[in-house]
Amino acid sequence: MNCHCGNKKVYQECCEIFHLNNGKTDTAEQLMRSRYSAFVLANGDYLMATHHKSTRPIKEKKAIVKWAKSVQWIRLEVLETTKGSENNTEGTVTFNAYFFENGKVDVIHEKSAFVKENEQWFYLGLSQ
Ligand SMILES: [Zn+2]
Repeated sequence: MNCHCGNKKVYQECCEIFHLNNGKTDTAEQLMRSRYSAFVLANGDYLMATHHKSTRPIKEKKAIVKWAKSVQWIRLEVLETTKGSENNTEGTVTFNAYFFENGKVDVIHEKSAFVKENEQWFYLGLSQ
């Protein structure tokens, strides 16, 4: 079975590695994928830990977890990445995240910005 993030690897060999090491991914795309998997698993601690401290929505954590549990996640589609590799300190990932909510399919389309600090990638928010 593929990982929640859609990679052709089992969860234990894919996003779980990052869920257990607090998000120490090599690339921004890996962090993005592991964050999607964390939404699927409603892992609020991971979503907060991998969200850059300058934009971390601590007060919304409960609501985010509740919402993540309330929808049925379908799949992640990574459309485009810029930079975000091991030698960069910033990058973007453009994606579609599909889910069922209230009986219909909905999609989050976002170009996300990521930054690397102390050798670790963090989600910053919407890209400019
Ligand atoms: Zn994965």
